[in-house]
Amino acid sequence: MDGSTQERPVPPIVVVGAGLAGLSAAVRLAGTGRKVVVLEATGAGGGRSRSFQHGPTGLELDNGQHLMMGCYRETLAFLRTLGNAGAVSFQRNLAVDMVRPGGARVRLRCPALPAPLHLAAGLLGMRGLGVLHKAAALRVGLVLRGEVERPDDNETCDAWLRRLGQTQGIRSAFWDPLIWAVLNDDPLVASAGMLVAVLERAFLGTRDDSRLGVPRVPLSRLYVDDAVEYLHQRDSQVRLASPMRAIETDAEGVCAVRLRSGERIETRTVISAVPPRPLLDALPTAAREHPVFQDAAKLTVSPIINLWLLLDRAPFVDAPFLGLIGSPIHWLFDRSRIEGHEGGPMLLNCTISGARGMVDDRPETLLELAKGELRRFFPDRPVELRGHKIIKERRATIGHAAGTQQLRPPTRSPVPGLLLAGDWVRTGLPATIESACQSGHDAAAAVLEDAARMHAFGV
Ligand SMILES: Cc1cc2nc3c(=O)[nH]c(=O)nc-3n(C[C@H](O)[C@H](O)[C@H](O)COP(=O)(O)OP(=O)(O)OC[C@H]3O[C@@H](n4cnc5c(N)ncnc54)[C@H](O)[C@@H]3O)c2cc1C
Repeated sequence: MDGSTQERPVPPIVVVGAGLAGLSAAVRLAGTGRKVVVLEATGAGGGRSRSFQHGPTGLELDNGQHLMMGCYRETLAFLRTLGNAGAVSFQRNLAVDMVRPGGARVRLRCPALPAPLHLAAGLLGMRGLGVLHKAAALRVGLVLRGEVERPDDNETCDAWLRRLGQTQGIRSAFWDPLIWAVLNDDPLVASAGMLVAVLERAFLGTRDDSRLGVPRVPLSRLYVDDAVEYLHQRDSQVRLASPMRAIETDAEGVCAVRLRSGERIETRTVISAVPPRPLLDALPTAAREHPVFQDAAKLTVSPIINLWLLLDRAPFVDAPFLGLIGSPIHWLFDRSRIEGHEGGPMLLNCTISGARGMVDDRPETLLELAKGELRRFFPDRPVELRGHKIIKERRATIGHAAGTQQLRPPTRSPVPGLLLAGDWVRTGLPATIESACQSGHDAAAAVLEDAARMHAFGV
């Protein structure tokens, strides 16, 4: 023996899933010098926020139009690390146009006042809506100011809005579209507590928090490509087509991840950033019986349908996006304008949220619906369809029915060494990009905290 101590190589931190939760966790850890291995089941990163090349049109399309808000702090921090925060176009102040069949508009324009006065002034000034409806909406401000009891997670949005005396007019032009958009669920069942959590983040901070933002570039270029590059530059890896089969444990906790290929990666730290089902399938049987995981097994899913339509010209020209009042299609996005190619054919995105009742419809039925709605809402500007792509995301998000929040697990799982990330963990937010990035950053912070504690004990 020469007296030198042979140091064992430090095992990597394994992050399972290269969606936004997994990538944000991995980037945060790699940024502190940790070595990370990201395992992704499919051939590309991005998960439910990804883009792909569409052969027939030659366009790079997103799996679905994604909207952000100014209060997406964790998402913006992730994008800043990648140098991509400038690729999202944010409104100067919150502005939303809703359209009625025939073309008449209801316009919300929030002026440059401090929050939440900007919203109050915007609601009062809403064009195309009677004063009674607007006055009703202002009552919600009392809840935000704490003057009326907040709803808990067991109350539905519908019951809560009734309790606050919201009229049908303000519901169809403001509340219901907002709920479908942020909770991806039906206002009749969706949790009012979750809605208020969003309202507080958007309207009780600064005026900028409520601005809406749309990416100007395809999603994979915004979130994925540069994250993978960032990790590679820091001696970390993203292994595509490498599905996890099992998380293995011993008396101390996590000891390895087994891949479907049979390969075994030894590690004491795993961040699971996959949806509930693949996580539950990978757990040791005994762990699966734990109430935390039993609850996670009860989470439901809610689909989103996106129709991409290539049109000979634009059916509307005065807004980058519009909400449709009283239509199964909730939002239209003028992607050509958003990406800066105006004047020619229009790439239009039609979004149907919480699409449980339509997700099994045939593509022809959905296409006819979209064409019919364009004629109904914009009768003065007939358009011709030149190409299309329909994307049904059956598991777009978890369902946000009242009572769901308590089923979502915390970052630290009952299995030592196993941290949970993903938009569906208990972040206090609905399952969104921001929830995914927050969960990733929370999991990374927990890993760093544990490492600091071990260091303090000299382990
Ligand atoms: C059509 C659509 C529109 C949306 N619109 C918006 C919006 O406007 N605004 C907003 O904020 N949010 C929106 N969302 C929600 C947002 O996309 C998600 O919240 C976010 O992308 C979830 O990221 P995640 O990392 O938690 O999960 P995922 O993206 O699901 O990532 C999980 C990853 O794990 C991988 N994986 C699964 N099993 C395994 C395994 N066994 N081994 C290894 N890897 C595995 C998957 O392939 C995937 O890449 C939308 C979602 C959809 C589908």
